[in-house]
Amino acid sequence: MVILAFSIRDLGIKNAEEKAQIIADLVQDGLSAHMLSGTMDQREFFLNKISTAKGVEALWVVRSESVIKQFGKGFNNEVVRDGIDEKTLQTGLVHKQNEESSHSAKLRISTPYIAKENGSPNCMQCHQAKEGEVLGAISIVFNINEVRTNGVITSLGILLLSIFIMLFIFFVINRSMKPLMELFDSITFVMNKAQEGDYSRRVRFSGSDKECHNVMFWINSLLEKLENTLNDIEVTVKKFLALSPNHQPDLLLDAQAIVHELSDIYQFKRTIEFDEDKEQVYRRIGSILQHDLGLEDFVLIESGKDAINPTIVFDASSQKRTIDPTCRALRTKQAVYSDQFRNICESCDSCAHHLCIPYLISSDFELLLSIWTTTPEALAHTKEQLPKIQNYIDAARPELVSKNLTEILKISSTTDALTGLYNRKYLDEYIEKALSQAKRNGIVYGILMIDIDFFKMVNDTYGHDVGDRAIKALSHILKENIREADTAFRFGGEEFLILLYECEETMVENIANKIRMAFEKTPIQSNNGATFNKTLSVGVSIFPKDSDSIWKCIKFADIALYKAKDSGRNCIKRFELNMLDEQELKNAF
Ligand code: GH3
Ligand code: MG
Ligand code: MG
Repeated sequence: MVILAFSIRDLGIKNAEEKAQIIADLVQDGLSAHMLSGTMDQREFFLNKISTAKGVEALWVVRSESVIKQFGKGFNNEVVRDGIDEKTLQTGLVHKQNEESSHSAKLRISTPYIAKENGSPNCMQCHQAKEGEVLGAISIVFNINEVRTNGVITSLGILLLSIFIMLFIFFVINRSMKPLMELFDSITFVMNKAQEGDYSRRVRFSGSDKECHNVMFWINSLLEKLENTLNDIEVTVKKFLALSPNHQPDLLLDAQAIVHELSDIYQFKRTIEFDEDKEQVYRRIGSILQHDLGLEDFVLIESGKDAINPTIVFDASSQKRTIDPTCRALRTKQAVYSDQFRNICESCDSCAHHLCIPYLISSDFELLLSIWTTTPEALAHTKEQLPKIQNYIDAARPELVSKNLTEILKISSTTDALTGLYNRKYLDEYIEKALSQAKRNGIVYGILMIDIDFFKMVNDTYGHDVGDRAIKALSHILKENIREADTAFRFGGEEFLILLYECEETMVENIANKIRMAFEKTPIQSNNGATFNKTLSVGVSIFPKDSDSIWKCIKFADIALYKAKDSGRNCIKRFELNMLDEQELKNAF
């Protein structure tokens, strides 16, 4: 529009310039004619007439110095009026100037008259001038206001028409594009939400376009299927996998995380199936807690039913931790967090941030995981890991239970339930292994055969349960008086066998005596509150000094025991060959 307006204005100016040239030529020719016809003094009428031409606001002629010299000054108005006149006379060139303001537009133009020798009429006929000399100038002021106004009106007309056409096109496009835009906007919104993990939004379209309806339907069906499937995965998995409370906000990413976790747990389960024992499974759990879940300072404790005999089964504590019997989590079987209450657990008073989680494994035993952190943020982070830890413990539970049962069976088949000492069955298994080594390495075993004196009386007087108490008391004394390398067996009812490893003969008798005296002094509680004391007798033999057969040595200790009984009981008898009768002596070697 601006270009057009300027073009129209330029065209108007050009027209005015051409018109000025025509008028200038006309004036020149008219003045020449006046000159030739000798009516030069009547030229004013002619000039006034011409100046009434349309658009001409003023018109005057200017005489050069040479013409003034030859013909005089002329009329009063035939003088130089401005700088343009002056420049035109001096240069012999056309000079023009636009004078535009907000309310008027004028073209001021001066055209020189140049003396020419040739041509008709010949200037030199009347003028005493040289070829090319400037004789004068015709100056015209054109009013080009109308031209400018016309240009503006035309531009405005075109502008209005263009605006109208554009509005029309916009209206037509808007009508056909609006439904598409609505659909597009809705798809953009729904997809944005899906990107953020919210698959519950649906595309809306209110128009009638069939294609658009199809697109809406396809996208919505896909989203519905996706949402239902992902929700279904979550609901199904939740039944057997604990999910972190602030798990991934995106259902799809959530499903991916769940699948990864399931795969890890499945691998873990497959691995521990073939682990040798509970301890190996604990080591594996500890390693996962350390390396996969990033726990730095923790211990895993196994305890029997009702927190009996807790033992650390995996220790990743930064400072050596011991099990405190006042541990709140062990006692209450409830999770204990340090941010639950100030000094919540007395045994953990010194630890700033901690959490203790009990996990019931079976009716026989449970696990306790105690974790310490340095900051409250780390504690919060550890809490987020608890569902994962729970999943691993859940996965390990069946294996732990079965491995625990296997261990119990193994122990119970080789130990005596009342005393916890090894039984005869174990003696049979053990003795072959241990003694074959002993023979090779020249190891000496001291053998004690111990029997409580007049034990029948205890049962008869106080009852069988008090008798059991006496047997337990003796087994306790035995355990306390032998070393780790020694082994005690319950050989019969109230009869015990002790194998003292690498023990010299004098030491053997000393130990036997210590046991005898300790038992003698131990009061045994009867059911009516009274206590009584019992004594015992001991038979001693030395392997391989007495025989290179361990079974024979055991037999000799038994024979020595009977000798002790015969000698009045509550004493110790070292086996001697003369204790054997002839028949026994024959069989002995
Ligand atoms: P001795 O001084 O000659 O050894 O006399 P004794 O009465 O101790 O005689 P003996 O060793 O033959 O008696 C063993 C008794 O111990 C027989 C049995 O009733 C009892 N007994 C065996 N096993 C158990 C047990 O597990 N509990 C109880 N209470 N008594 C048992
Ligand atoms: Mg006895
Ligand atoms: Mg006996």
